[in-house]
Amino acid sequence: MRLQHGAASGLNVVMLGPPGAGKGTQAERLAQKRGLPRISTGDILREAVQAGTPLGSVAKAAMDAGRLVSDDVMIGIVQERLDRDDARHGFVLDGFPRTVEQASALDRMVNGRGPLVVLDVVVPEDVLVRRLATRRICGRCGANAAVHWKTKCEKCGGKLVTRVDDGDEIVRERLKVYQRQSKPLVDYYSGRGTLRTIDGNQSADVVTAAVDSAVATAESAGGVTL
Ligand SMILES: [Zn+2]
Repeated sequence: MRLQHGAASGLNVVMLGPPGAGKGTQAERLAQKRGLPRISTGDILREAVQAGTPLGSVAKAAMDAGRLVSDDVMIGIVQERLDRDDARHGFVLDGFPRTVEQASALDRMVNGRGPLVVLDVVVPEDVLVRRLATRRICGRCGANAAVHWKTKCEKCGGKLVTRVDDGDEIVRERLKVYQRQSKPLVDYYSGRGTLRTIDGNQSADVVTAAVDSAVATAESAGGVTL
């Protein structure tokens, strides 16, 4: 059963942005501040696979075969996650939607649950290339290091190392793929009063302040137009 707490009570946030834009950090901060779950598709895919749910098994079969997880399966896994109790007042989604089909499914899922605020974190390509080429990861568990981690992994205590496989060319290719995939998504949302562009080429704290004020204005805009 889905609890209704009035149409405007929920805060449903989608964070868009290329690899290296810092949206994971911002999603985490926003989620904590608002007491909402941060839902990253990487995490919930792993969970569904580990739990061996029917959708998780289908996703695992696709990944084992080196294929992408289909829209249908991804949508189903996100739906199951959003139906859980902790998401009834909203969520911060990171990594979903990736396609227009996923985006329109998400619109159906949040129908009646308050406005969908879409934050597009934008960073110039040269800055992303520099960030990604010097990205640090945990040498033990492979976690991406958050900006504030100094020398040790805050998940397992392992030593941080610089990733060496992200050469300039590989990074630029990844960014091109992202731009190609995300353009239709941004177009899909572009007519709405709840889409906000965030300048991600600033310090993490300044970006956080921009995110907070964008959410505040988008929330009030969403209350009127939806
Ligand atoms: Zn670690």
